[in-house]
Amino acid sequence: MNDVTADKHSAFCYSFSMLILAAVFLFSGCSTTTLPKRDLASFSQPSACYDRQLEPSTPVVDSHIHFRAFGGKSIPFTEINDYFRQTTIRFANIYGIGQVLPADSSCTYYLDCPGTPVLPSIKNDMVNAANYVEFPSEDIQLVLSMTFPDMAKLEDVQEIIELYDKEYPGLFKWAGEINLVKQALLQNGHVPVTKADINKWGAFMELLRQRNIPINFHSDLGNDENPTKYLGIMEYVLQQYPANKIVWAHMGLSKELAHMDATRHTKLMARLLNTYPNLMLDISWNVLNTHYFSKPAIRAVYVDFFNTYSERILPGTDFVASRNKNFEVYEKELSETSSILQDVDDTAFRNIALGENYFRFLSLNYQAPDICQ
Ligand SMILES: [Zn+2]
Repeated sequence: MNDVTADKHSAFCYSFSMLILAAVFLFSGCSTTTLPKRDLASFSQPSACYDRQLEPSTPVVDSHIHFRAFGGKSIPFTEINDYFRQTTIRFANIYGIGQVLPADSSCTYYLDCPGTPVLPSIKNDMVNAANYVEFPSEDIQLVLSMTFPDMAKLEDVQEIIELYDKEYPGLFKWAGEINLVKQALLQNGHVPVTKADINKWGAFMELLRQRNIPINFHSDLGNDENPTKYLGIMEYVLQQYPANKIVWAHMGLSKELAHMDATRHTKLMARLLNTYPNLMLDISWNVLNTHYFSKPAIRAVYVDFFNTYSERILPGTDFVASRNKNFEVYEKELSETSSILQDVDDTAFRNIALGENYFRFLSLNYQAPDICQ
């Protein structure tokens, strides 16, 4: 090859390579999220590192999702599993609902029907268990939860657990979400638990400990007039049952407590986490994003807190599967409830979003991928 031909040749090569690069770029959709989604099996062994630039920031765990509606029709069980397949969720707890409208009520949401009693029931646990057995899912790891106990009157709990054991032996591996105090329900017959009630939980909590079953409590911390009005209830439970695996739903926040000072709240949570090593916090419910995580100054406080206590946080949507919702609603709630996880550090992202906390907490034989450096 003489010099001129060589020059022409290299110019051709350069243009050709640029063309190839452009084609690759075009065919990749110019997108940064084209890596294939991880399947369940990839969590049973060491897998490729997780690239936070190219892979989604939504979690692989939904630890708090209600498969049943308060009343009216629910989304079919298999359809909810399809929602998981279409998103990043590979692990989920099957919650019933801790408050059920009467069968003869036309309500689907308790706030629309003040005066109508909504009380715990075994109905939804039984429907969930039947579906769990009838529609086994190979590609989604589901954990069945019992949501029936009324913590203000536990008299019949032993009998009901015997019934569960008889019908579905060994299937219920989680408990909750169970209401201790939920201000939104005070007009629907819900009565907050008292210290006298909590003192009577001994046998039930012992049974949970023996079976390594965590329990998720919804216990409002307070309201905007008095942010720590009900702190005493949750703290008394923690004092009485420090050896139980307890999850505090929504970190005690709610629509009624929408403006608590973030520094005050995180300091309080930190004190409880330091004092009670078996306590975990669940950051589910898009209400937390609306009132706290979506506001930059407040978000920064929680990002710091999650980084510091990254082993103590569980993600969840708190989606309630009533039939007036669809996949778009689930997808939106998933992205809202996990938006803050984009900003946490790599260790926290692996622990919270990639499931490491959930696996450890439930002693599941799975592992989160490492984060790519
Ligand atoms: Zn919930």
